[in-house]
Amino acid sequence: MAEFAIAPAPVPTVPVEGEAAVFPVRRILCVGQNYAAHRAEMGGDDRNPPFFFSKPADAVAPPGRDPAYPSATANLHHEIELVVAIGKAARNVSPDAALDLIFGYAVGVDLTRRDLQAAAKGKGQPWDSAKGFDDSAPISAIRRWSGAVPAGRIRLSVNGQVRQDASLTDMIWNVAEIVSEASRLWALAPGDLIFTGTPEGVGPLVRGDRVEGEVEGVGQLSFTVT
Ligand code: MN
Repeated sequence: MAEFAIAPAPVPTVPVEGEAAVFPVRRILCVGQNYAAHRAEMGGDDRNPPFFFSKPADAVAPPGRDPAYPSATANLHHEIELVVAIGKAARNVSPDAALDLIFGYAVGVDLTRRDLQAAAKGKGQPWDSAKGFDDSAPISAIRRWSGAVPAGRIRLSVNGQVRQDASLTDMIWNVAEIVSEASRLWALAPGDLIFTGTPEGVGPLVRGDRVEGEVEGVGQLSFTVT
């Protein structure tokens, strides 16, 4: 193998609950507008299905890492999401076969520069600066999983006040459909994370806010915006 001209970046990792070994992150895909009530609060309607965007792998902020309030925004938003961790390589899988690719689940927050996202939407520009900034993907440890897909509540509170509280069963694309759709667009591989979209109740964060999120049966996450 060729020598590197510069030192390669470290592989971003997420803990695996109860294990010393960590999950190496290869790629972060995200689903947009996957809950009808959130799609409505963002001004969308049912003419368009959910869609994908992405964040860089090193956007993950694992437990214990408090994200800094990002530059270049005056409207940082929280979006609590169920995260799927992919453990097997595959492409073009059917929804029936998709669950077999899943290593486990985690709780994530898709931090968003909402003002930059609105500006990008207005100009038909991509969302990278709105979605893919440093520490924009706080995440819990990954819980290994087999069997039925999580189907409980998904919640987020800020300084003890509940902001988001919905059911995972409100998803427009369910987990199997998300993984299947993603596998039609990309060759999925171990290390891929998929943020599955946020329910209604997104809102602003300011420096010092304490954020606590939970997905029933999957785990909790908490961080402070510094
Ligand atoms: Mn999101």
